[in-house]
This record gives sequence, structure tokens and C-alpha cells, in this order.
Amino acid sequence: MSKQYETVIGLEVHVELATKTKIFCSCSTAFGGAPNTHTCPVCTGMPGALPVLNKQVVHYAAKMGKATGCTVNQLCKADRKNYFYPDLPKAYQISQFDVPICENGEVFFYVDGVKHSCRLERIHFEEDAGKLLHDEIDGTIVDFNRCGVPLIEMVTRPDLHSSAEAKEFLEMIKTTLSYLDICDCKMEEGSMRADVNLSVREVGSETFGTRTEMKNLNSFKAIARAIEGERERQIELLEEGRAVVQETRRWDDNKESSHAMRSKEDAKDYRYFPDPDLPPIDISDAWIASIRKAQPELKKAKSKRYQSEYGLSAYDADILTADKALAELFENTIKAGAAPKKAANWLTG
Ligand code: ADP
Ligand code: MG
Ligand code: ZN
Repeated sequence: MSKQYETVIGLEVHVELATKTKIFCSCSTAFGGAPNTHTCPVCTGMPGALPVLNKQVVHYAAKMGKATGCTVNQLCKADRKNYFYPDLPKAYQISQFDVPICENGEVFFYVDGVKHSCRLERIHFEEDAGKLLHDEIDGTIVDFNRCGVPLIEMVTRPDLHSSAEAKEFLEMIKTTLSYLDICDCKMEEGSMRADVNLSVREVGSETFGTRTEMKNLNSFKAIARAIEGERERQIELLEEGRAVVQETRRWDDNKESSHAMRSKEDAKDYRYFPDPDLPPIDISDAWIASIRKAQPELKKAKSKRYQSEYGLSAYDADILTADKALAELFENTIKAGAAPKKAANWLTG
């Protein structure tokens, strides 16, 4: 009799915020551009250059936190995460360690009509790194344009159990970002990328299995394939009586297989400490109140309203509200005099 396995997944989702300027300097965040033209002494890590926190980043991160049921830590700070990487010229990344801006949220979503939820452990802000371009003739060249583009990282609890759940969770994150207007959500440009942490355990087991992490997946399809592939690989190991090693693996979506990259690093390896160049962040009650007041109607409420106000099916309402632009088009069509059900059929068909 063969054993039954449960997949356990936690995601770390990185989202590039749609601010005009970078997180600690006034360079442009525009995608592309000639290499190393959106740069200055701050974002290229010149000695003595001082970062100044972009207030919009704090605002956007808090908006996302409020929309996902998080507590906003009104007193928080920026920390240095030390590591060397060729596209991170300071040799540390400014991030948040023990006091993230938002904590303890929950995101609800549906898979085949069944409601699921995934808890958010935290949301913190941090700076993106540059990009390495591997060229056959010139070798590896570095473009610092992306260095210092603001990111939020959302870390989930290990509450997801399949590629379908991971996909619908991410779709809901994407929808929420679009409603809040804080990210362009262009996954093909890397605006949203996820690290997949995955383990398997025998159904009924109380303890988690050993997990692996696959970093920087930037399409829903790649994420789904990586989950399927890694689940199979781990089950095979266990069936052979071997152990899963806790490590970071690189998923190669073309080969549809993964290989080990490095053993998993621990928080202590990064030697986090508060960034001495940045004062602590103190968010006022009034600011939090204004964020709450300005929150737009989100997908869930909108979908309910479409059903009660326009008599749409849950299915149609769900499709129309999945994207802010589509919902706006639907509402404008009705305002212009169209019958709601007819408009819904046209727009979803
Ligand atoms: P680290 O700081 O080493 O990256 P965390 O404890 O913060 O580790 O967890 C990172 C991610 O891994 C989270 O999304 C979490 O839900 C997930 N995770 C933790 N343990 C497991 C496990 N046994 N199986 C699957 N995912 C896990
Ligand atoms: Mg991690
Ligand atoms: Zn700059």
C-alpha cells in the first residue's frame, strides 16, 4: 500500500512598488533604460552617500498591510542585511528584520468554489538589487538601474497545499495590488516574483517535513510546475528512504527540473543590525486613519455588491472583479446605460 503525502507550501512574494523614484534616492524606477543611467551615488553604494527613505514606500506598504488584515507597526525601522552579491554594490541590502512594517494578516481566496485562506506572517519593505547580464562575448556585465527600486516582501505561513492554491493566492495578491494601485504587476518584467518553500509529509503527520526553497519564480506557470516537480522529487526521496536536505534550489523551467544551489542560510548568517543612516519610522495614528479611509472597495466587497445589486452570478462577479481595469470598464458600461447582465456577458465572454 503506497503512502499518501500532503504538500506544505509557504511563499515569499516580492513586489516592486510603483513609485516614481527609488526607495532611498530620487533616481527613476522606470523599467529598462540604457544600462546604468538610472543611478546615483546612493543607489550604487558609493562610500559616504546617505539614503533618505521615500515616504511613498511606507505609505504603499501600509496600504497593502491594511488591505490584507495585517497590524501596522507604527514604530518600525530599517535594518542592514549583509551579503555580498555583484549586483548589490553596498554589500548589504537595506531591509527590515525584527520589526517589519506589517504583521499577522490573512488572505482569502477560492479554488474551484471552495474558500481557502493563507496567513501572512509579515510584510516588510526593502531595496531591490541590480541585474547581471550574462553575455557570451562580453562576459557578465552589471546593470544597476534596478538597484534601489522599492520592494515589499510578503511572507506567508506554510498554509498552502497545492499549486492550484498557490496560484489562486497569488492571483488574489495581484488583484489586491491592482486595486490599491501600488504595483504594475507585470510579472514578465519581474514586478512580482515568488520564492517557493515546500515540504511534504505523510497525511496525518503532526510535524512538518524538511523544506527546500526555490527562488525568484516569475510566472504563475513556472510556480505551478516548480511545485509539482519539487513535490515529486521529495516524495521520491522519502520513498527511497532518503532524507530531504534543507537547501536553496534553482528551478529550471525549460528543463522542468531543479538542482541544488546552496545550503540554506540562516538569519544569523546575514548579521542584521539597525541601519545607522536611517532614523526609526514613526507612523502617526492620523496617517493610519487616512489610509483606512482612503481604501478603495476591494475585490471581495465589489464581487458581493455585483451579485446583490446587479443580480450577477458569483462566477461572473468573480471574473469581472479579478482586475481593477475590467471592473471599471464594467461599471462605466452600466453608467452609460447598458443592462448589467448583458454587459457582464459581453465582458466575460
Ligand atoms: P527563512 O527566514 O529561513 O526564510 P522562515 O521561517 O521565515 O524561514 O520561512 C520562510 C518561508 O518558508 C515562509 O513562507 C514559511 O511559511 C515557509 N516554511 C517554513 N517551514 C516550512 C515547511 N516545513 N514547509 C514548507 N514551507 C515552510
Ligand atoms: Mg527566506
Ligand atoms: Zn539613485
